[in-house]
Amino acid sequence: MLLEGKHGLVLGIANKRSLAWGIAKAVSREGARLAVTYQGERLEENVRELAAELKDPLILPCDVSKDEDLDALMASVNKEFGGLDFVVHAVAYALREELDGEFLNTSREGYRIAQDISSYSLTALAQRAAPLMEGRSGSIVTLSYLGGERVVPHYNVMGVAKAALEMSVRYLAADLGPRGIRVNAISAGPIKTLAAAGVHGLGKMLEFHRNQAPLRKNTEQAEVGDCALFLVSSLSRGITGEVIHVDGGFHVLGMSAW
Ligand code: NAD
Repeated sequence: MLLEGKHGLVLGIANKRSLAWGIAKAVSREGARLAVTYQGERLEENVRELAAELKDPLILPCDVSKDEDLDALMASVNKEFGGLDFVVHAVAYALREELDGEFLNTSREGYRIAQDISSYSLTALAQRAAPLMEGRSGSIVTLSYLGGERVVPHYNVMGVAKAALEMSVRYLAADLGPRGIRVNAISAGPIKTLAAAGVHGLGKMLEFHRNQAPLRKNTEQAEVGDCALFLVSSLSRGITGEVIHVDGGFHVLGMSAW
């Protein structure tokens, strides 16, 4: 049991397809006790049903765009767990109309929302989680996508938010490293989830990926879960500020096969 006696916080479960749920299953399988969050009442029942599979979970509301929600979340986690060993940030949002057509047409409000929820929220979370993680070899993990490194059709403003998220990982790793806290990202290949369904042309993207990726398959939720397990466990104790691609090798391609 890699995570026996460890306490973790996982944000971003919406349903059973969520990458956050794949991660929650992997880390709880290795003995971690979890706090999981839901965004608003609409998702509460889903999350409660899924969390019933976990061992003695703490289930709490959190909208990451609200400082008061993040403060209340950390206070509850601290009260119940008395500290934290790891945090998983698997949260992203952009207005649907921004994930179609050209990036050129991005609105000021659409840009602000994508950055706030998909990028800044990691920093807001790290600020509040760090005091709970000190002296425990803590680990923070977030989820990114190749569209933050290179242009992917229709990913648009979310790509720019992921670029900011990945750079935040590096700055946070530098700030928190001296306090023994590691910060890393997983850049996952496309997987059909609620959030991914908002990107125009997801079906084509999945097909292209499985035909072209070196491993010739689509990325699976469990593959992301197992990589996150590695990143929150002591097996990765020498790694921080890193973006690990769990995408069947797709990111190494400079040209597609023909
Ligand atoms: P998902 O829809 O299951 O999860 C997204 C989560 O973000 C949901 O639980 C939603 O409630 C939460 N969220 C959105 N706005 C929020 C807010 N204001 N406050 C709190 N929570 C909020 O989809 P997913 O694909 O599992 O997404 C998880 C992460 O993985 C995201 O960062 C996404 O960009 C990233 N990712 C996904 C893929 C993919 O293809 N599915 C690939 C690479 C990276």
